[in-house]
Amino acid sequence: MRLSSYYIPTLKEDPADAEVMSHKLLMRAGMIRKLTSGIYSYLPLGLRSINKVARIVREEMDRAGAMEVSLPMVQPADLWVETGRWDYYGKELLRVKDRHGRDYCLGPTHEEVITDLVRGEIKSYKQLPINLYQIQTKFRDEIRPRFGLMRGREFIMKDAYSFDKDDEGAEKSYWKMFEAYKAAFSRIGLCFKPVQADSGAIGGDFSHEFMVLADTGEDTIASCKSCEFGANLEKAKVAQPQGVCHCDAEQTSAFEEVETPDARTVDEVCAYLNIKSDQLIKTLLLKVDGKEPVLALIRGDRELNAIKLRNLVGGNEIEMADEALVKDLTGAPVGFAGPVTLSKNIRTFADHELCTKSDWVTGANKADTHYRHVSLGRDCEIDKFADLRVIEETDVCPECGKEIEFTKGIEVGHVFRLGTKYSEKMDATFLDENGKAKHLVMGSYGIGVSRIVASAIEQNHDENGCIFPPPIAPFEVALISLGGKDEAVTAKAEELYDIISKLNIEVAYDDRKERPGVKFADADLIGYPMQLVLGGKGLKNGIVEAKDRKTGEKTELPLDDFVEAFTAWREEIWAKWGLDM
Ligand code: ATP
Ligand code: MG
Repeated sequence: MRLSSYYIPTLKEDPADAEVMSHKLLMRAGMIRKLTSGIYSYLPLGLRSINKVARIVREEMDRAGAMEVSLPMVQPADLWVETGRWDYYGKELLRVKDRHGRDYCLGPTHEEVITDLVRGEIKSYKQLPINLYQIQTKFRDEIRPRFGLMRGREFIMKDAYSFDKDDEGAEKSYWKMFEAYKAAFSRIGLCFKPVQADSGAIGGDFSHEFMVLADTGEDTIASCKSCEFGANLEKAKVAQPQGVCHCDAEQTSAFEEVETPDARTVDEVCAYLNIKSDQLIKTLLLKVDGKEPVLALIRGDRELNAIKLRNLVGGNEIEMADEALVKDLTGAPVGFAGPVTLSKNIRTFADHELCTKSDWVTGANKADTHYRHVSLGRDCEIDKFADLRVIEETDVCPECGKEIEFTKGIEVGHVFRLGTKYSEKMDATFLDENGKAKHLVMGSYGIGVSRIVASAIEQNHDENGCIFPPPIAPFEVALISLGGKDEAVTAKAEELYDIISKLNIEVAYDDRKERPGVKFADADLIGYPMQLVLGGKGLKNGIVEAKDRKTGEKTELPLDDFVEAFTAWREEIWAKWGLDM
């Protein structure tokens, strides 16, 4: 490609609305342009990168035996009504009407469509397993589209769906995808980690997110410093506390009322009673699916993990009870609820560490009043002690007991076991070996193709611009000619351009009539992993200068033995990225 005739509208300034580096650099390097909030056009360079990611993903999906399809983006509402998601999916689903007034949505994901596609067509266990995937534009009306390609409303996703005859098969399909993802992300050149993620009502350990490690990530990951353990914070188990159960401790005196005028928050109560926050139990009154109230008890200095609670109580959505409900159920204003003397009809869950101690302070369900010397087993009815809180960095690894650390991550992929959730709702069955109708056991697997390009930049950039991993760089090599009016240099540069092109290596040949400084700055900004610079002096000395964009290291390649020297140097660069060519 000749830069003199290529469309790369670079920008000198960062766009005002860009907060993260990938967004700034993708805009400045002329790779994307915003059409409207969360909706971007991909320009030639940007699209090349996206297509390279897609190609690697496609190759790994094919290798794993998945088959590519292309499903419609416009989906009829009826299918979503069948699964209940027309109501449940909420405002992220962009709904439209056709000229006859019929409802449709723009596909944010394709479980309904794919299940509809195979139901009735997969008739026998002999046709299973299968895995179908596509790489396609998705639309999600995100509440806060931001960070450019990171969280768009329109974005490119690879989504795959597996169908098996039983759980055992589904498990195999799951791990096959897991391995395919590892292979794809490694080939792309990303530094990533698969972490345990929430698997919702399905339960079990069949949900993993693939996280690209970067400070700008929106997710927090708890990882063990010693073993393989890694989990999204919303999933991370907290190790079962050691020691005996003190719930029924005999030594604690009977609970008694204590006045706490106007002290509602943990801090206020602790200050008033002169106790530490780990001596108090926080009582949270919540509502499941807008109806059933439940109580969650956690230590005063801890944070409730609402997802763990939701998985425990069942139901879709958990929210804090409003003031009126608190008043109605406890007879007291907000801030004084407690598990003692509360109606027995409310299901009560306590974090498992509350079992290791007795003598707690809790709310007394009475204005300006708390109880002290509360012993949970003795004074309250707890339906279940369970892991309910958010893990903290000072906690130990739930798997090996050693130190953990928190890091930020960008979710670039998600593998998920669906079970029969969709096949039951949509009645997608097959006949098993005994001629009995069974529901298909499904899995779904997503990769954020466009988000990967942004993540790669988040992970690899400097003050001068992007530093693309070679496999997904828009062009692998920049050839910068400093010829100007020197025809000998120009002729040699043309020759090198020809040689590299014939090696089937993608090269961006900067043949523009620009100052050297402009050419260097543009090459750095766009982030071609390899740069070759040919000038008058070099030509005289029989060399072309070669720069590794990642390390900044420069070497000289001999012109008379160019192909061999260049090929060896290129191999070295890939190796520095930890990549095979
Ligand atoms: P997130 O928590 O980031 O919203 P998600 O859980 O909604 O992601 P999935 O439904 O699992 O995502 O979609 C599969 C993949 O698609 C994600 O792993 C992510 O890489 C990508 N993705 C999801 N939403 C967006 C978006 N708004 N913009 C770009 N990529 C996205
Ligand atoms: Mg989302």
